[in-house]
Amino acid sequence: MKTAIVTGGGSGIGQAVVRRLRADGLNVAVLDLKPGDDEAGFVADVTNRAQVEEAVGAAREKYGPITVLVNAAGLEMFRRFTDITFDDWQRVIDVNLNGVFHCVQAVLPDMIEAGWGRIVNISSSSTHSGQPYMSPYVAAKSAVNGLTKSLALEYGPAGITVNAVPPGFIDTPMLRKSAERGYVKVEESIASTPVRRIGKPEDIAAACAFLISEEAGYITGQILGVNGGRNT
Ligand code: NAP
Repeated sequence: MKTAIVTGGGSGIGQAVVRRLRADGLNVAVLDLKPGDDEAGFVADVTNRAQVEEAVGAAREKYGPITVLVNAAGLEMFRRFTDITFDDWQRVIDVNLNGVFHCVQAVLPDMIEAGWGRIVNISSSSTHSGQPYMSPYVAAKSAVNGLTKSLALEYGPAGITVNAVPPGFIDTPMLRKSAERGYVKVEESIASTPVRRIGKPEDIAAACAFLISEEAGYITGQILGVNGGRNT
């Protein structure tokens, strides 16, 4: 039985990924600031290397080597570029990019040892289009796409695939919070989405499930947009 870690698995997209991978028969540990009452939940801030190592170590001890990692933890910030402080910039880069660095480094030794691994990084469709008032977020997520491609080249020979899934507009607590604050117009977004609906967390989970499957072993370094045809 394979063991996966899903960061940000306490909410939204990450939570749907957890449900889907469990339905597909994997052991899944949730790594989140608030993993809820999940029996396989481990509290960790992805920006804190010691907490990440501790959570990964505890998950490994309970479920065995970690050979699947889905990085879904993320933090949005809407602010005009000229109003962003360097602390704001660093926090967004820290969660969305450095968090991926810490989690990948923490699990790669297990994958290398196993000679098999799957990493999926949840980036953002804003990396295709850009997004006003979200410059550090788009910068961080674009870097995640680049990191994905480099890691795919570096660890393909070790049997590890690394792909990114940039979601479009997905109905999650993060999106609803942004909509409440007026930063996202849900109806307008649906109208400009070719398939004319908002995405479901399960749409992203399905893509992750495919990319971590055995049959996706020849797919690596790819940026698989799941966005209803918007921002492709
Ligand atoms: P969400 O519902 O807010 O879920 C994100 C989860 O990550 C939350 O449980 C959050 O905990 C956790 N998290 C945040 N910072 C963390 C940290 N430092 N360490 C550990 N966990 C942390 O958001 P979502 O919409 O599902 O987003 C999932 C991913 O998809 C994110 O990477 C996001 O950027 C990306 N994305 C989402 C959309 C969309 O339309 N929803 C579009 C493009 C990309 P707290 O709630 O306690 O902060």
